[in-house]
Amino acid sequence: MNKLITLKIEMSYGPVMDYIYPAVLCDNDNCVLVDCGYVGSLPKIEKALQCNGLPPKAITHIILTHQDHDHVGAAAAFKQKYPNVLIFASAEEAPYISGSQKSLRLEQAERLQKELPAEQQEFGKTFCRLLRSVEPVPIDRMLSENEVLPFCGGCQVIATPGHTPGHISLYLEAFDTILSGDSMALEQGRPVLANPQFTLDIEKANVSMQRILLHPARRIICYHGGLFEKENV
Ligand SMILES: [Zn+2]
Repeated sequence: MNKLITLKIEMSYGPVMDYIYPAVLCDNDNCVLVDCGYVGSLPKIEKALQCNGLPPKAITHIILTHQDHDHVGAAAAFKQKYPNVLIFASAEEAPYISGSQKSLRLEQAERLQKELPAEQQEFGKTFCRLLRSVEPVPIDRMLSENEVLPFCGGCQVIATPGHTPGHISLYLEAFDTILSGDSMALEQGRPVLANPQFTLDIEKANVSMQRILLHPARRIICYHGGLFEKENV
């Protein structure tokens, strides 16, 4: 039977406490985790899976929407503990996730560090250290635009570049739902760009968010913000 589960995991950064919402797609053959938390969050992901009746070793695949630390941060630890899991990402994001290229977010943070006022220097350094602590993980299969993966009767890859160049979202026809990753976030229940000040290409990001909002799917699960139902627009 097809099941879509949304995990809710605490994520704090300094004094700020928030949640992230990785999703899990299960059918008779596979269990697919979409995005894999931040560095050090594996125990929280394991606990959230167990709370939903899923032993972590039941996860057969992880799809990573993009290279950012809060999405790939626990993927290497997951793979070390559960080596049978297969990890998928877009061809464009793969080199940054597998470590053959330096993460674009770290490049950006190092560049911005030079311009930060004195009182923000320490914050910037801590953020760079956090980004450097992300362990690379090999990608088992690269995904391309519009490809339909066989999970839950069809899981379509939608290219949603902007936040990062190869960012992808997933359309799950059986659930009338899009998993948006960071192509769209929610603030007080309203659609917004995720961290627009750090978005690598703001024009493309805006087009991608519109693409998600105009898509016929009625529900959108945002990694930052959770469920959005289009009736609310
Ligand atoms: Zn994110």
